Formats: sequence, structure tokens, C-alpha cells
Amino acid sequence: MQKIEQLYEGKAKKVYSTEDENLVIVSYKDDATAFDGLKKGTISGKGVVNNRMSNFLMQILEKNGVKTHFVEELNDRETVVKKVSIVPLEVIIRNISAGSFAKRFGVEEGIVFEEPTIEFSYKNDDLHDPLMNAYHAIALGLATREEIEEIKAMAFKVNSVLKEYFLKLNVKLVDFKLEFGRLADGTIVLADEISPDTCRFWDKVTNEKLDKDRFRRDLGGVEDAYTEMMHRVFGD
Ligand code: ADP
Ligand code: UDP
Repeated sequence: MQKIEQLYEGKAKKVYSTEDENLVIVSYKDDATAFDGLKKGTISGKGVVNNRMSNFLMQILEKNGVKTHFVEELNDRETVVKKVSIVPLEVIIRNISAGSFAKRFGVEEGIVFEEPTIEFSYKNDDLHDPLMNAYHAIALGLATREEIEEIKAMAFKVNSVLKEYFLKLNVKLVDFKLEFGRLADGTIVLADEISPDTCRFWDKVTNEKLDKDRFRRDLGGVEDAYTEMMHRVFGD
């Protein structure tokens, strides 16, 4: 399968058309942004880690009954995925308080929740991805009530599968962002990526951060954190 034409360049990935109108190729870059694009940088090797890890996790999820866009890894940075029309919602699941949750509600990071939480942000750069609830999404026609229910169920299933998977690698899955899309026939599938860019990972014993927060917060050891997560997942 070959790239034909670049359809889109985002902050972390490029998307290309292929000879099959139902498939696209995503190409993962080392570019990193944070704080709504205000902070920019490069994380050497990030594209490889995110591509390989995301594909591996999507395959685990498929085995557990979660439909995803994954089709075939072409090489270290490029993957064939089913082309979807993205539901413009960032779906965020949290198991432990951190980031914007801790800030918004004035609590410390690290509170382990009795039950995971879910929240939605409207994927809209001009509006800076505002928080919204399911009724807002339905009112704006971003998704139907049935689609929202399915997305919620899929997101919690992803959480239960991945939380258990990462715990075996001595990693706490603190929170993460998912994106969903519609195939041509309307089927909802998990799309985009699952990686240290989109998840918070803390070492189970030391709580050391092994994700993009090292870049966001200038903690140093950014590349090492991505490499460490790659080692834990692939053992190489
Ligand atoms: P951003 O657009 O936020 O800068 P990226 O750099 O990751 O993000 O760009 C990838 C883009 O591709 C995102 O807009 C994402 O929603 C979109 N996307 C992810 N998976 C698919 C897919 N299977 N089909 C079509 N678009 C996708
Ligand atoms: N996240 C993401 N993309 C975004 C916003 C958040 O991948 O545009 C992920 C982030 O990596 C974290 C989770 O979603 O794992 C929750 O992020 P939060 O709302 O705490 O925002 P942040 O503190 O990153 O601004």
C-alpha cells in the first residue's frame, strides 16, 4: 500500500490518501506541541514509539472486542488505517486526578478514584477545545444519543483492558484521550492514537512520569520516558 496524496498535516501526524478510498496512511512525526500549540518542540524518536505502541494497543483492544481503525503497520512510522469521519470530541477517561482535572477542581494530583470518570471536549482549535457534556454534543449535532452511548461504553471498555494491561508492566494508567470515528456505513470505531502523547503513565512504584508531561512541564528525560515505555511494552 502506497501514499498517494497528503490530505492533512496535524501537529503530530500526517494523513495520506491511498488507492483504496476507504483506507488512509498515517505517518507519525517527532514534532511535539503543548498548551494549545503555544509550546513547540521535537521529541526524537517519538513518532516511532507512538506508531508502534498505538498499533500494538489497538490490536489488544480488537482481541477484546473493541473495533478500531487499525489495518496494517507498514514501517516504524507509517500505518494503514480505515478512513473515518472523526467525531469531533476528545473523550477523556481518568482513573487518578491529574492535569486539568486537578487544576479545575482545586485538588492535588494522585487521588485514586473509586470509579473512572469520563469527559468530552469539543475538538475545535479556534475555540481551544472547550469542555462539553453529552447533551451539548447532541444539541450541536456532533453525535447522536446512540453514538454517545456507544462511545462511552467503548471508552470504559478501553480503560478496563488497558488499565489491567499496563499494571502488569508496573505502569499506572492515570488518564488518556481517545478519538472515535464513523466508517462509511456509520459504524463507530476507535481512531487516532493511544500513546505517551495521549495518556498519562506513572511508574507503579515511584510514580515517575513516563509520558508527555515530561515535555509539557520541562521535567527533562523526555526521550528516555518514551523509550522506557517502549521497553516495557515490547521488551526491546
Ligand atoms: P491534530 O489534528 O490534533 O494536530 P494529529 O497531528 O494527530 O492531530 O493529526 C492526525 C489527524 O488525523 C487528527 O485530526 C485525527 O483526528 C485524524 N485521524 C485519526 N485517525 C483517523 C482516521 N482513521 N481517519 C481519518 N482521520 C483520522
Ligand atoms: N490529552 C490529549 N490531547 C489533548 C488534551 C488532553 O491527548 O488535546 C490527554 C492528556 O495527555 C492526558 C489526558 O488527555 O492524558 C487528560 O488531559 P488533561 O485534561 O488533564 O489536560 P492537560 O493537563 O494535558 O492540559
